[in-house]
Amino acid sequence: MPDANYPREFLRRLKLRLPEMLSTLQRLVLAESPSLEKAPADRCCNLLAAEWRKCGARVERIEQKHRGDQLRVTWGPRKSRATGQFLVLGHYDTVYSSGALSKMPFRVTGGKAYGPGVFDMKAGIVQALFALKTLQETQAPLTRRLEFLWTSDEEIGSDCSRKLIEAEARRSDAVFVLEPSLGPRGLIKTARKGVGEAEIIVHGRASHAGLAPQEGINAIHELARQLTRIQEWNDPRHGVTVNADVIEGGTRVNVIAERARAVLDLRALRIADMRRLERRLHALRPVLPGARLEIRGGFNRMPLERKFSAALFVKAKSLAKQMGLSLGECTAGGGSDGNLTAALGVPTLDGLGAVGHGAHSRDEHILINTMPVRSALLAALLLNS
Ligand SMILES: [Zn+2]
Repeated sequence: MPDANYPREFLRRLKLRLPEMLSTLQRLVLAESPSLEKAPADRCCNLLAAEWRKCGARVERIEQKHRGDQLRVTWGPRKSRATGQFLVLGHYDTVYSSGALSKMPFRVTGGKAYGPGVFDMKAGIVQALFALKTLQETQAPLTRRLEFLWTSDEEIGSDCSRKLIEAEARRSDAVFVLEPSLGPRGLIKTARKGVGEAEIIVHGRASHAGLAPQEGINAIHELARQLTRIQEWNDPRHGVTVNADVIEGGTRVNVIAERARAVLDLRALRIADMRRLERRLHALRPVLPGARLEIRGGFNRMPLERKFSAALFVKAKSLAKQMGLSLGECTAGGGSDGNLTAALGVPTLDGLGAVGHGAHSRDEHILINTMPVRSALLAALLLNS
C-alpha cells in the first residue's frame, strides 16, 4: 500500500472496531485504579498486561512497592536492528478512590461514555492498543521500535515513575503523550506550563498584643506585605501565574503572631520566566525590622515549550488532513509527564488521547465516535513521523 493511503485505511478499519474498543474501555474502567491504592491498581495493571500480550508485544512489569506496578510494552524491530524508538506515554491511575464506580458507573449514552478515568486517560490507552493492532494487521512498515509505557502515579506527581519515563525518553526520537485533548474539537496540547510549589515561612516574635505590642514582630503582617508584592508578579499575557493557595499563621487572639506561612502555586510557559520567578522569590527580603523569611521549593516540572512539539504537530496536522480532518492546538495550564520528556529536549506531542470533558469530576466522559479517529491518528504518527 502506498504510504499516503495508510491513514485513511487505518481509520476505515478502526471505525469497524469501535464496539470492540468500547468493550475494552469498559473492562478497563471497571478495574478501578486509584493512584494511592496498590491492590486495585495492580488488578488494572494485570488487565492491561493481558491485553498487550494478546497482541504479541513484549510486556515487562516493573514492580512497585507502594504504587501500582508500571508496565513497559515493546513492539517492533529488536534494538540492534531498529533505527530508533518512539515512546507512547500514559498513565492508568486515576484520581478516584475505590468505590467511585457506584456513584459514577460506566455507561454509554448519547454518543458519550462516562466513568472514572474514562477521559483521563483510559480511553487514550485503548486507542493506543488498537493503534498497535491496526499497525500489525496492515503490516505497515514501521521503521522504529515502539515502546508503550503505562505508569501508575501520574496523578500524584510521578515520583515513582519519573526516572523510568526520563530514561525511556532519552532513548526515544519522539514521545507521544495520551493525555486527554482539549474541548470538543480535540485540540492537541503543544505547550504546557511548568509547575511549581513554593513556601514562604515568616518568623516573627510573639508578644502580648495589649501589654507589650512594641516587643512583638507580627509574622502575619509581614506575610501579608510579601503576598501583596508577589501578587504583582502575575503576568497572564506571558503565561506567568503566582497564587497563594494556602495560608496559615498565628496561635490565638491577644498574642502577636510569631509565625505565618503561605504555599504558592507557580506556573510559567517559558523556562526563562520560570527561573526569573525563582530568583525573585529567593531575593525577597523582610519589610518589618526583625522579621525573618524562609523560602522553600520552586518549580518541579519544567514547561513543555512549544518548540519541542512544533514539528510533530505539523506532521500530525498533515496526517489528520489525509483523513479529512482538521487538527487544532492549545496551551495547557497544567503539567503532565510530557513536561518531563520535553524538558530533556526530546520532541513531545501531548494531548493525543481522548476527546471529551470533565476530567477529575463526576461528569467525566468521552465522545465515543472520536475513538477510532484518535487511534488512527496515533497509528499514522507512529508510522510516519
Ligand atoms: Zn492524566
